[in-house]
Amino acid sequence: MSSATRLAGKVAIVTASTEGIGFAIARRLGQDGAKVMISSRKQKNVDAAVQQLKKENLTVEGMVCHVAKQEDRQKLLEGTKATFGGIDILVSNAAASTHFGSSLSISEEAYDKMFDINVKSTFMLCKETVPEMEKRGSGSLLLVASIAGFVPFNMIGVYSMTKTALLGMVKVLAPELAHMNIRINGLAPGLIETKFSSGLTSNKSALEYALSQIPLGRLGKPEDCAGIASFLVSDDAKFMTGENVVVAGGQMSRL
Ligand code: NAP
Repeated sequence: MSSATRLAGKVAIVTASTEGIGFAIARRLGQDGAKVMISSRKQKNVDAAVQQLKKENLTVEGMVCHVAKQEDRQKLLEGTKATFGGIDILVSNAAASTHFGSSLSISEEAYDKMFDINVKSTFMLCKETVPEMEKRGSGSLLLVASIAGFVPFNMIGVYSMTKTALLGMVKVLAPELAHMNIRINGLAPGLIETKFSSGLTSNKSALEYALSQIPLGRLGKPEDCAGIASFLVSDDAKFMTGENVVVAGGQMSRL
């Protein structure tokens, strides 16, 4: 169910939004009335996503942005301002999982890449977007973390650490941004059926174990994250900041 006016007049950027959770969030923000800038690393993916959402009569445009590249982030912000006139909402959704195995067996290169994309790029994008929101007099940031940030997943320990850092980033930035009328919250999905999670979900015994941990008895779908994301960035959540919201079918999530 969407409310086509909830985000009317708002401009949103969603990173990593050509498929999976980012795509579902971008679609939902568009259905709820926002103008949305789609982005990911590959032009052909951006083109396909934009074409699909335009077919659904949503107001979207797209740009290539590899979040770890400063010049790409800059172009994304400039391009969004030039196309839609400003920026009200940022959903930082991009992440990488570069290592499977015990945490101490990770190479320095894989460690750096994960922290670079998942943590540093998220922080930098927030830092670079805030001045644009300040000009508008308000804004809303949403960081896509993970339930793994609360309870680390076996074999993806360093990825889990990067997601715990995002939970902390939300807590650190919320009070610093509040006087500018800018809110920041986190979304922590549980296991959601996407390409990203297919390594785990395609393994029968891993899937069985995962499902045994989810009281609602199923994997999530990207759409299960989209309405919550739209709510969090909207004025319906205007008294919420610094919160990390878990969407995980009831899976335990105590830090
Ligand atoms: P996905 O379906 O595999 O989609 C990944 C998207 O990210 C694609 O659009 C991809 O497009 C883009 N992308 C990848 N690297 C990028 C980069 N460096 N810069 C910009 N775009 C990039 O993934 P997903 O499962 O939706 O995951 C989205 C987010 O949810 C991630 O932060 C992930 O950690 C989090 N999450 C996922 C789950 C889950 O179970 N799926 C659970 C908890 C949290 P290009 O290839 O064109 O770049």
